Amino acid sequence: MNEYRNLIGGRLAPAADGRTLDSVNPATGEVWARIPASGKADADAAVAAAREAFPMWSGMPALGRARFLRQVAEVFTRHAEELARLETTDNGRILRDTLKKDLPGMTYLWQIAAGQVLDAVKGDTVILGPDSLGLTRREPYGVALCIIPWNSPISTFSAKAAYALAAGNTVIVKPAEQASASVLRLGELLAEVFPPGVLNIVSGLGEDVGDPLVRHRGVNKVSLTGSTQTGQAITRASADALKPLTFELGGKSPNIVFADADLDAAARGVTVDSVFTGNAGQVCVAGSRILIQRPVWDEMIGRITAIASHVTLGDPLDMATTMGPIVSAGQYERVTSYLEIAEKEGAGLVFGGRTGAEVVPSLPGGYWVAPTLFTASDNSLRICQEEIFGPVAVAIPFDTDDEALAISNDSSYGLAAGVWTRDLARAHRFVRDLQSGTVWVNTFRQMPPGLPFGGIKDSGYGHDAVLEYTREKAAIIQT
Ligand code: NAD
Repeated sequence: MNEYRNLIGGRLAPAADGRTLDSVNPATGEVWARIPASGKADADAAVAAAREAFPMWSGMPALGRARFLRQVAEVFTRHAEELARLETTDNGRILRDTLKKDLPGMTYLWQIAAGQVLDAVKGDTVILGPDSLGLTRREPYGVALCIIPWNSPISTFSAKAAYALAAGNTVIVKPAEQASASVLRLGELLAEVFPPGVLNIVSGLGEDVGDPLVRHRGVNKVSLTGSTQTGQAITRASADALKPLTFELGGKSPNIVFADADLDAAARGVTVDSVFTGNAGQVCVAGSRILIQRPVWDEMIGRITAIASHVTLGDPLDMATTMGPIVSAGQYERVTSYLEIAEKEGAGLVFGGRTGAEVVPSLPGGYWVAPTLFTASDNSLRICQEEIFGPVAVAIPFDTDDEALAISNDSSYGLAAGVWTRDLARAHRFVRDLQSGTVWVNTFRQMPPGLPFGGIKDSGYGHDAVLEYTREKAAIIQT
C-alpha cells in the first residue's frame, strides 16, 4: 500500500488529525494508496506557510525564480516514467498518454514558465507631461490557491502552479480526492527544489479542505479546473472577500463535420482525438456532440463505428491499450446513468452501451464503459445538453450552416468546438460565430502553450497564464 503525505512549509506530513482517504485503482477497483484527508487545520497551516514564504519568493529577482522552475522541469524529465505510472495507476489515463504525451509536455511547460518570469514584472510607462511620469507595476497576488481535478492531475497542477510561481506568488495546490497520488509524489520531489512554504500541497475532500482554503482571508487568488457546480460554490464562498478567480470548467463541445470535409481526418478528429480518448472521454474539451451534415451522415456514422471498433480497452499500464477505465465508482455511476437516460429519452443507440466486466473480462473489478454513440435529432435532450464526462457521444444531423451554428450555440457551455470543412470562408465564419473559448478547424484538442485556453458561459472565464497570476498597480510620479 502506497502512503502519501501533504507538503506544508517544506515538510511532508499526514493530515493534522491523522485521517486518510483510500485511493482506488480504477482498472481493478482495489485500494492501492492512502492520501491525507486534510481539514481546516491543514488548510490553516498551508496558508500560514505560504504567507511566511511570500516576501522572500516575491522579493527575489524574477530570474532567480526562473532557476527554480528550470529545476522542476528537470525533475519531470528524471522522474517521467515513475510519475506517469503513478498517475495511470491512480486515475486510469493510459500510460501511452501519460508517458508519451503528458510528462514530456510538463518538462516543456515548466521551461516555458521559466522563460516568462520577466513578463510578470514588465509594466508600461506613460509620459503624462514634462514633469509627470505614469507607470504600471505588475505584482503577484500573494498566496494563490490552485484547485485541480482528477482527469490529468500533473498537467493541471503544472498549468497553474508553474505560472503562479513564475509570477511571484506562493502556491497551495489542492488535488482531487479521486486521484492525488501523482501530485503528492511530486510534492516529495519538489520539497527538495523549493524553499519551504513556496509550494504547498494538501489533499482531501473539496468540502473539508478546499472550502476552508477558498474562504481563508490569507488566500488572495483562486484558480479552479473542475465542474461548473464547484465554480459556482467557490464564487459564493469567496464573495465576501471579493477574491479574483480563474475558472476552467465543464463543456459539451460540438464537433461539426461538413460534407466537403476530409472525412478521414474528421472521423479521427471526432472519435479517438476527441471523445473516445485514452482517459475514456473524461476530457473537458471532449467533442461529445458530433454534428454531421446530412449528405455524409451514413458515411460518417460508418467511419466512426469502424474506428470505435478498434479502440482497445484494458489495463491502462499496457502500452497496447488505447482506452482506460472511468476514474471512480461515483463517476462510473454517473456515466452509466446517462446510458439509461438516453434510452428513456428515445435516443438511437448506434454502438456501445456496454459496461463493467462484460467490456474487460480480465479486469472484472474495473469501471469500464465501452465507446458509445447515440443519435438524436433534438438538441434539447439531456444527453445533448449535460456533460457526461465519459466515452459517450451523440450524433446530430444538420442541413445548413445556420442550423449547425444554432445547434452548436444552443448550450449552456462554451469551452471548445471543432469544425471540419475545406471552405475557408465558412471556417472563418464559424471561428467568429461559435460561442466557445477555442475553435479548432480541421483539427481537435490541440492546446499549444502560447495560446489562451479557457471557456465562456458555464465553462468559466480567464485562463492559466503568467499574467493571470498578477495584478497591476498604477503610479504617477510628479517631479
Ligand atoms: P469537481 O468540480 O468535482 O472537483 C474539482 C476540484 O474541486 C477537486 O479538487 C475537488 O475536491 C474540488 N472541490 C469540490 N468542491 C469544492 C469546494 N466547495 N470548494 C473548494 N474545492 C472544491 O470536478 P471533477 O469531478 O474533479 O472534474 C470533472 C470536471 O472538471 C468536469 O466538469 C470537467 O469538464 C472539468 N474539467 C475542466 C477542464 C478545463 O480545463 N476546462 C479540464 C479538466 C476537467
